[in-house]
Amino acid sequence: MVPRISDRELHEECGVFGIFGVPDAASLTYYGLHALQHRGQEGCGIVSADADGALHRIKGDGLVTEVFNEEKLAGLRGSMAIGHVRYTTAGGSGIENIQPFLFRHNTGDFALAHNGNIVNSAPLRRHLENRGSLFQSTSDSEILAHLIKKENKFPDRPRIFAIVDALNMLEGAFAFLIMTSNRIYACRDKYGLRPLSIGRLGDGYVVSSETCAFDAIGAEFVRDVEPGEIVTIDRRGLRSTDYSQYKRRLMCSMEYIYFARPDSDIEGCNVHAYRKESGRLLWQEAPAEADIVVGVPDSSLSAAMGYAEASGLPYEMGLIKNKYIGRTFIQPTQALREKGVRMKLSAVRTIVKGKRVVLVDDSIVRGTTSRRIVTMLKEAGATQVHVRIASPPMISPCFYGVDTSTYDELISARKSVPEVCAEIGADTLAFLSPESLLKSGGRSELCMACFTAHYPTALYSSVEQANKEGK
Ligand code: SF4
Repeated sequence: MVPRISDRELHEECGVFGIFGVPDAASLTYYGLHALQHRGQEGCGIVSADADGALHRIKGDGLVTEVFNEEKLAGLRGSMAIGHVRYTTAGGSGIENIQPFLFRHNTGDFALAHNGNIVNSAPLRRHLENRGSLFQSTSDSEILAHLIKKENKFPDRPRIFAIVDALNMLEGAFAFLIMTSNRIYACRDKYGLRPLSIGRLGDGYVVSSETCAFDAIGAEFVRDVEPGEIVTIDRRGLRSTDYSQYKRRLMCSMEYIYFARPDSDIEGCNVHAYRKESGRLLWQEAPAEADIVVGVPDSSLSAAMGYAEASGLPYEMGLIKNKYIGRTFIQPTQALREKGVRMKLSAVRTIVKGKRVVLVDDSIVRGTTSRRIVTMLKEAGATQVHVRIASPPMISPCFYGVDTSTYDELISARKSVPEVCAEIGADTLAFLSPESLLKSGGRSELCMACFTAHYPTALYSSVEQANKEGK
C-alpha cells in the first residue's frame, strides 16, 4: 500500500452511509461517502440491493473517487444501498477488511458496515471460532454478523430479535448499518459514543455518520439514532427498537474537537459552533498577551475564530495548508525535510513577522506536529508563540475506534504542561479544561476518556495488551 501522507496525528476509523427507497441509491451513496471522506481515506465500498433483493458489492483500496467510476456505479443497481469509508487500524489493512461486509446465507443475504471498535472482540471471536465460525477478515466488525446467525437460538423469529440479542453481547463503540434484501437496520451503541443520524430524501430515507452527507445530496435531517436504539428502515417507514435499557449520552468529544466536519450537526450541536465556543472559553481560561491569533488549518480554525473574537485580537491567516497533496505524493526524505521541504503547512511570513502569535490548535498528541509548527512560525519571524489547545492534555489511549497512539507516544501522558511547553518550543502553553469541553456544547456528559482515563466501558485485557504492543 502507498504510504499515507498526513500531518494528522489522530485518525478516525470509519464513516457509514445508507440510503433506502431512492432510485440510483448507489450513486447517492457515492456522494454521501465523498462527504464523509475525512473519516477514512484508505478504503471504501458500497453494497446495493436491487429490485429482486440481490445484493451487489464493489469495494477497494483508496479514496471514493479512486475506487468508483460511472461504469462501476451503474453495476450497483437498486434503490437501497449502504457504504463505508475506512481508516485502517483494528484488524489491519487488506481488501478483506474493507467494508461493507457481505454475507451469503440460506436465510437471506445481508451486508454490514461499522464505525467504532468492539472492546470485547477477542473473547467473542474465540467463542465463535470454537463453535465453528470461519471469519473472512481480521476486522472486529464481522463479529456482529456471526453473532446474529450463530447465537440465534430461534431462527423462526423475526431478524430484529437476533440483532437485539447480538448487540447485547457487544461491548464498545459502534454505529452499525445492516442491510438485508428489503430493509436497513441502523444501530447505535448504548453509550452513544459514535454518531449516527437519519435524514429524509424524497420518499426515502438516508442514514449517515455525519449530517454533512445529507447536505451533499439534498436530504433533510430527521433525527439522530438514539443510544441503544435500532432504527428499522423499510417500506413501512421508520420503526424504533431499544436493544438496551441502559443508555448514556457519552458522545466522543473528539468528534466535536477534531474529527467531524464543521458543517455537521452532532446531537443537535453544530460542530463549527462548538469549536468556536471552545475557543471563547479557552481565552477566558488562558488569555495571552499577543498581537494576532492564528489557527492550525483546518480543524482548529473555528476555535481560533472564537479565541480571537473573545480576546478582541485580530484573527489572521498565519498558516496556509496545501490542499493538493494526495495519498500518492512522494514523501520527502529526512534529509530533504531538514532542508526545509514542507508539504502541508507553510507560515505566511508577511503576516507573522515581528508579531506575538497566539497559535490555537485542537489537540496535542505526540507533540511532533506542534513543535514543527512553532518552529515554522518562529523561523518566519514571529517574536513569541503562545500555544493554546482547545482540548485537555491527552493522557490515555482510545479503545473506541480512534487511533490515538499508545501511552508511550502521548506526550502529555509522560510530561507536565511546562515540560510539553519546553518540548514544543512555545513561549507559553495552556489547555482547555474538561469542564469547558462540556460547556462548549451545553452538554452534561461526553466521553473524555482520552483526557481523563475514565473509560465508560469495561476494558478487556486483550485491548490493553494490543495497545501496549502498539498494534
Ligand atoms: S477515548 Fe477519546 S477519542 Fe476515544 S471515544 Fe472517548 S473521547 Fe473519543
